[in-house]
Amino acid sequence: MDISKTVRILSGVGDKRAEQYAKLGIHSLGDLIGYAPRDYIDFTSPTPVKDIAPDSSAVVKLVIVHKADPQKIRQGLVLYKVTAEDETGQMTLIFYNNRFIYALLEEGQSYRFYGKVTYNFRRFEMNSPVFVSDSERQLILPKYPLTEGLSQNQITDNVKQALGLIGDIPDFLPDEIRRRYELSTLDWAVKNIQFPQSMDAVATAKRRLGFDELFIMQCAMKKIRGKSRVSGSHAMEQFPLTEFTSALPFELTGGQHTAIEEIFRDMASAVPMNRLVQGDVGSGKTAVAAAACWLVYKNGSQTAFMAPTEILAQQHRATLDSFLSPLGVKVGIITGSMTEKQKREERALIADGEVDVVVGTHALISEQTGFADLGLIITDEQHRFGVEQRKMLAQKGGHPHKLVMSATPIPRTLALILYGDLDISIINEYPKGRQKTGTHAVTRKLRPRALGFVKKELDAGRQAYIVCPMIKENPEMEVQSAEEYIKMLEGSIIGGYKTALLHGKMSGAQKDEVMSAFKSGDIKVLVSTTVIEVGVDVPNATVIMIESAERFGLSQLHQLRGRVGRGQYPSTCILLTDNPTPEVRERLRKFSSTNDGFVIAEEDMKMRGAGDFFGTRQSGFPPLRFADLGNDTKLITEAAQASADVFAASPDLSGYPSLNMRVDALINKNGEEGMN
Ligand code: ADP
Ligand code: MG
Repeated sequence: MDISKTVRILSGVGDKRAEQYAKLGIHSLGDLIGYAPRDYIDFTSPTPVKDIAPDSSAVVKLVIVHKADPQKIRQGLVLYKVTAEDETGQMTLIFYNNRFIYALLEEGQSYRFYGKVTYNFRRFEMNSPVFVSDSERQLILPKYPLTEGLSQNQITDNVKQALGLIGDIPDFLPDEIRRRYELSTLDWAVKNIQFPQSMDAVATAKRRLGFDELFIMQCAMKKIRGKSRVSGSHAMEQFPLTEFTSALPFELTGGQHTAIEEIFRDMASAVPMNRLVQGDVGSGKTAVAAAACWLVYKNGSQTAFMAPTEILAQQHRATLDSFLSPLGVKVGIITGSMTEKQKREERALIADGEVDVVVGTHALISEQTGFADLGLIITDEQHRFGVEQRKMLAQKGGHPHKLVMSATPIPRTLALILYGDLDISIINEYPKGRQKTGTHAVTRKLRPRALGFVKKELDAGRQAYIVCPMIKENPEMEVQSAEEYIKMLEGSIIGGYKTALLHGKMSGAQKDEVMSAFKSGDIKVLVSTTVIEVGVDVPNATVIMIESAERFGLSQLHQLRGRVGRGQYPSTCILLTDNPTPEVRERLRKFSSTNDGFVIAEEDMKMRGAGDFFGTRQSGFPPLRFADLGNDTKLITEAAQASADVFAASPDLSGYPSLNMRVDALINKNGEEGMN
């Protein structure tokens, strides 16, 4: 039967249940059999009663000895007690108000029970256990994520029925790929993810289904990319880089050099560049971007440089201007806070080609900015852009080269998946002389001492960031609590220093005002809720104190820590926590022991799962149910290799019609730009 048929054709599924299924994203039979159990109850290896540790969950295999008469405890509560045993001991099974279950159990018969065991009055007890008859062949039961009104048994029954109706599931994966990577058939995998014979079978099935997710995603990105790889870009003539570097106030690092070479090589071609530059905070990505702008300028063409916030746009403009204006490059800016007249004038200059590099926030893309000759689009911190903005960016006329800069370091294998359509340059070194930021995690009780340290830095002429306690549950309260926090600081030993607050409810212009006062050194202590702008560069700030550090992801902490250690002075990051659990302690210890963003990102991803790691912003990214981006490194590499194999054999996938259909389905679901 066709897997696209609605679940309504199943017996027992009417309007109401179909609606409940819809809530779980299940509409068709195919959706249903693809609905992954969250866990399993494995009845295959029972524990002897004498070996059970009280207060743990266990599977036992018992013969029913005696069914006691129902006990009416009080109105509406009836207890059904059953005595059962194996060769090593006895146990009491207790069911509440469940005459039906009680009636199913027969004295003298053997069953397998699963549940939490307690030890009461020198007897083992199991409350409301799940059980199967010992003669049952299916000894591993799926546990599904549920929704209101749907029970495990209902889903299990429906899945069974659907599998029966569907019969053999055809495989879309080319046989040679399946064999090369030792994967099971799709039919086997789907059946064993639902009703496995062993937990090993579950692992094997997961491997196949996880491979499919990664493989199809990569194929989709390759296909999209193949389409965009039409030539039509400005092939840039090359110029000696020394002309650019001669104007720089420093020597480029090896990592910067390599990235620039890769970018120049890409832009020499008429096929548009599509490159991601990954570099930890402070690794000097802006200078790399400047070099790209310079080459484009030398070729008589323009660059659009997109920043996620106004503050960053201003900062980039100033930096680019200092690197590039000595070379004759004109750097302009367009931001949301400019007046209409200012914008109009700036746009006229851009349209006339008077401005070579235009820095801006999304206002630059969302409104009509016409370029005389747009050769390159640079996007800074792209993860902070929504899919919509990326779409608009992609639609900007012609075939400009594209460069994306990201300060969220992710392992190369993962980048393959997330940015499968991009080439990647990694800057994995810091400018010389950069000092490591010392990191200390302490409990909140030590805040006075921490503030004492902050004061010492301020006394020495430095500046400080303080991230105030986070109120996750209640963003409305955030401002109020931040204001109270500032009052507390004013009464503390750093009370004499000029302090200002930055929070999410402020307008862009208000934030800018505070930020520039901090940058100029007028404000000494910048207190903020979690909104300290990623990428802000104030080299004189040497200490950051973070309250409720346990509530942040490690990568987020790393970004915050990256606000200091940007100049010639040694810097410090102080993490304050409240009653840290052993896990929190361990997490923060790991964080304190390294400054390497890649190590931290990998750790973070393992702990939180990739979905959380990227947050909802990565909304163009299809959810993965079987593959684990943080831990399945080998599978990711294999899927990448396999997709390269099929595209080498059939560049438009026409040689693999059923695979091609799956790939197109994913592309249609996400939209091309969503995955770009
Ligand atoms: P990020 O990669 O975080 O965007 P930036 O581009 O803001 O880093 O650079 C961080 C700081 O390091 C800036 O003050 C910049 O001028 C400086 N910098 C960049 N490259 C070098 C270098 N090769 N040598 C010395 N300082 C550098
Ligand atoms: Mg930056």
